Amino acid sequence: MIELAGIGPRTAKQLSTLSIAKPRDMLFTLPRSVLIRRSVTSVSGLEPQALVTVEIKVQSHVPNQGRGTPYRVWANDGRTRLQLVFFNVSGNWIEEKLPTGSRRVISGKLDSFGGVPQFVHPDYILSPDAADQIPKSEPVYPLASGLTQKILVNSVRMAQDRAPDFPEWISPDRQKAHGWPAWKSALAEAHAPESPNDVDPASPARERLAFDELFAHQMTLALARRRIRRSRGRSNSGNGKLAGRVRSALPFTMTRAQDRAFAEISRDMAGNERMNRLLQGDVGSGKTLVAFLAVLNAVESDGQGVMMAPTEILVRQHFESLKPLARAARIDMETLTGRDRGRERAKKLEGLRSGNIDVLLGTHAVFQDDVAFADLRIVVIDEQHRFGVRQRMSLTAKGKGIDVLVMTATPIPRSLALACYGDMDVSVLDEKPPGRQPVKTALASEGRMAHVISRLQAAIKKGHQAYWVCPLVEDSEKSPLTAAEDRSRMLQAILGEDRVGLVHGQMPADDRDRVFDAFADGSIRVLVATTVVEVGVDVPGATIMIVEHAQNFGLAQLHQLRGRVGRGRDESTCLLLYREPLGEMARRRLKIMQQTDDGFRIADEDLAMRGAGDLLGVQQSGLPRFRIADLESQPALLREAHEDAQAFVRDDPDLTSARGKAVRTLLYLMEQDRSVRLISVG
Ligand code: ADP
Ligand code: MG
Repeated sequence: MIELAGIGPRTAKQLSTLSIAKPRDMLFTLPRSVLIRRSVTSVSGLEPQALVTVEIKVQSHVPNQGRGTPYRVWANDGRTRLQLVFFNVSGNWIEEKLPTGSRRVISGKLDSFGGVPQFVHPDYILSPDAADQIPKSEPVYPLASGLTQKILVNSVRMAQDRAPDFPEWISPDRQKAHGWPAWKSALAEAHAPESPNDVDPASPARERLAFDELFAHQMTLALARRRIRRSRGRSNSGNGKLAGRVRSALPFTMTRAQDRAFAEISRDMAGNERMNRLLQGDVGSGKTLVAFLAVLNAVESDGQGVMMAPTEILVRQHFESLKPLARAARIDMETLTGRDRGRERAKKLEGLRSGNIDVLLGTHAVFQDDVAFADLRIVVIDEQHRFGVRQRMSLTAKGKGIDVLVMTATPIPRSLALACYGDMDVSVLDEKPPGRQPVKTALASEGRMAHVISRLQAAIKKGHQAYWVCPLVEDSEKSPLTAAEDRSRMLQAILGEDRVGLVHGQMPADDRDRVFDAFADGSIRVLVATTVVEVGVDVPGATIMIVEHAQNFGLAQLHQLRGRVGRGRDESTCLLLYREPLGEMARRRLKIMQQTDDGFRIADEDLAMRGAGDLLGVQQSGLPRFRIADLESQPALLREAHEDAQAFVRDDPDLTSARGKAVRTLLYLMEQDRSVRLISVG
């Protein structure tokens, strides 16, 4: 908790609910708005709620008439009579502060009661010669319970008094071009706004502080990237033999985007530096094939590769879909998951150690210490946010200079890619394989459930299969699981007990796999699931995706769900069921799903409407949390910070120049500890 002379433990605790734990946090907690106090000669004719300062003459006192009634003071401002009103008064301080006949300057919010202008508990009551103590404007800070504006103002002032003058870390040219004040002046200005312009993110003071934040973060990413690049990689140039076999066995030709991404990856892998690349592509854009070819580069260099997936089921699916390609390449591919035990597992471990197994598809089970490789050269990670950094490191420790390829289907808006992946090179699959039928998307109210189910019944009679997703509903006492169980029972009653299956997170993996298998081989026609992840399977025969409470999903999630259908030859449908009442915003969001199939556009729209943290899930996305900078409204500033950091690390990687030393201070100040560690190691 914050330790600052004058802040007691109780206040410190309340401040901590605003994530204020240190004086620096206090400094970076900026006012949300500004209150302007207008000086007027009379309150006559003013709009109610105006915040004004006015000089008055005290006329008479009307003490409270028992509990609950206020103490009133009549006064006159020269043009009109008015009242000062006080509740819960004890003692005689009002008489002392407002003696009858005296002149006073008061300031507060104007009210009116029965046509009489009044001030309830004015903020200031001063004699006219002390009136200049009343500020013309006041910052308004975010509050948590128990805190007052006064506490925040005072705490900020104390923190400001303690803040030293640091050497400038922003280059003089940039500072001048933007008209940015020095750090300490920027803080002073940002905390003492005098007009609404001063609380605008584009005001010079705030923009400078936002830049500091973005720049510090980009420095961390740039240093991390340099560290990875400097650690020796190995050249996995391959000879194209295996990849050639695979490509000639494909029943289709690769898209240009796939060719481009594979070329970028191959160039990285052939170089002497380690690859640290993100392969980003919408669902169905064909990432798996590109990743597999990358792994073959390593195998061609007599090495091994690992492809990681978040769940057992996905591992098995990858295995099934890659099997023909592995056969064509004539390589040995195996899987390793938590379910491998005993002799079976021992045999696989031996195959990995001896190098007999060329390619391994696996879950977390691969992290285990006794999993060792003859010569592991590349790791492919599917959906990076499921694996922590430490786990990634434990994998790359299983070989020397291992290349890393991360695949993600989350269409990160371009404006945010830098904030999330500034430390990685990025390849984008922005093109879908040809011949895919677009999925028809429809919206319907949950009130039309009976109709929906009879349509579903008809479709199933014709041989179609469907996913039915029952997500979490905040306002329901029912757990998402109960909701899904109820729904599957209801569908079973109508469609037949053995035609409807249910999968959910709390299910034993074996049971879940059995249901998936039954869905994949077509014996189950409708698969009811509780969340997105559980439908992360590939069943080409499934042509219908029904999502309940669709308005509770992010658009990106809906897009992912929709990507589960439309994988086969038949026309597919995605039905988004919403619960009434559907707000204007929610309707617009769902309409976007109907209008476009472009994951990037959807992500951009979602971002515009919901905000970054919300969109990606701050925890999951690895998206940094900024106090001042706003990624949505300041993409240009982010880019500038990114470019500045890149150039800086190139020119002064050890931060030894004068500006380099100042930048170190900034990194400490911004608590980019990771960054600081990177410098000291590097
Ligand atoms: P992603 O992992 O990006 O969601 P997948 O790699 O699972 O996409 O590919 C989806 C499907 O498209 C797979 O069945 C795959 O074999 C197929 N596919 C991949 N590339 C192409 C291509 N260039 N042309 C046609 N089909 C392709
Ligand atoms: Mg895939």
